[in-house]
Amino acid sequence: MPDVYNWQLGRKMGYPYEEAHPEWQFAFVFNINRCIACQTCTMACKSTWTFSRGQEYMWWNNVETKPYGGYPQFWDAKILRLLDEEHQRQEKGMAWDSAQKDGSKRPYGVYQGMTIFEAAEKRNGPEGHQVALGYIPSDDEWRFPNIYEDTATGQKGAPGRWGDPAKLPEHGTWFFYLQRLCNHCTYPACLAACPRKAIYKRKEDGIVLIDQERCRGYRKCVEACPYKKPMYRATTRVTEKCIACYPRIEGKDPHVTPDGAPIETRCMAACVGKIRVQGLVRIDPKTGDWVEDRYNPIYFLVKVAKVGLPLYPQFGTEPNGYYIPPRWVPRPYLRQMFGPGVDEAIEKYAAPSRELLAVIQLCRATQEIIFKYEVVEGKKVFETAIQGKNWEMFNDTVIGYGKDGKEIARVTVEEPIYVRPAKHSNSI
Ligand code: SF4
Ligand code: SF4
Ligand code: SF4
Repeated sequence: MPDVYNWQLGRKMGYPYEEAHPEWQFAFVFNINRCIACQTCTMACKSTWTFSRGQEYMWWNNVETKPYGGYPQFWDAKILRLLDEEHQRQEKGMAWDSAQKDGSKRPYGVYQGMTIFEAAEKRNGPEGHQVALGYIPSDDEWRFPNIYEDTATGQKGAPGRWGDPAKLPEHGTWFFYLQRLCNHCTYPACLAACPRKAIYKRKEDGIVLIDQERCRGYRKCVEACPYKKPMYRATTRVTEKCIACYPRIEGKDPHVTPDGAPIETRCMAACVGKIRVQGLVRIDPKTGDWVEDRYNPIYFLVKVAKVGLPLYPQFGTEPNGYYIPPRWVPRPYLRQMFGPGVDEAIEKYAAPSRELLAVIQLCRATQEIIFKYEVVEGKKVFETAIQGKNWEMFNDTVIGYGKDGKEIARVTVEEPIYVRPAKHSNSI
């Protein structure tokens, strides 16, 4: 297998194809702390793309309750177990070497375990039947998009169960919502596994698509994707997946922006909880890493503030979906899910810097994709102590600019209060 560089792992790794990078990469950051599991995102996707016969079970976007929920059921527990078994067989650990952290280039240190590609090669040999460790979920596992909704875990049988007040830094009884869609990975396992070469990654934006004409429904992508995001359609006998709403990214949805500006996907634009920001980051063609772009909101949240973390980076696909981890969940669970950046991310999110607080306000400030932001300082409006340290809040204004440099969003940290004139007090 050729060696490719995976910046999330801080090292080279084996992948069935040579490195080839797009100019821009579709990416997103979700703030788990704010999600209310209203499923508006889920329904926005379903009503746009998967409402036809044979697509009944397809939820390209889903929001599941962790730790028990999953769509398909047990998706992450199952692949983690397979990966763990292979590590045990090889007598290897899955640890990270945090001493090798290096700014934005190697923000989480170096992963010393095996990825799903490396583990499959060890197990099956270079010409083995699987290029990535994986499995095909059973029909039963696809039945419930939101099984165990709002089911908490923790403190079983402990004295005072349910009675003790919840306290940070970790709650004894907890659950959280995980919002999921295809990660349009830098090294997609679905693409690597397809024997028909029906899956491709677009040069212009890194979106991963399945060519519906070439696909023969072998389901090797369903087996290989560790996030279980390709879905087989029995009525057409081909596999489908999230298309990142590419007509919108291309600025070809005339109902929203007649001037052809790139706009966010349906699931992003519909988010009621304002937890999502989606954009495009520029990619260095040689290294595959992100080109420094300090004032791109996605770049800032992931590479500068380091509050946005990849989902299961140890799988090795370099997913392009990032999450601000929930503050109240036990750290070992979060470290397994988002890697070793969890503690720093929570610390920074719990007492956000002036800039971070401002940039987070850009979530759902506009439907257009923001390529650059600027913060204009406002006056101090609040002061408190967080974890024993003084913390001040300023009513700064954050301005978002589109691809052509025009202003497309302007929001303040403090939400303005509008008082309706008395004559309209009970009308809309
Ligand atoms: S999340 Fe799965 S389906 Fe999407 S690009 Fe990555 S490997 Fe492929
Ligand atoms: S990006 Fe578009 S296709 Fe993909 S999950 Fe969201 S709404 Fe669905
Ligand atoms: S629309 Fe937003 S708040 Fe609602 S479930 Fe989806 S991600 Fe969460």
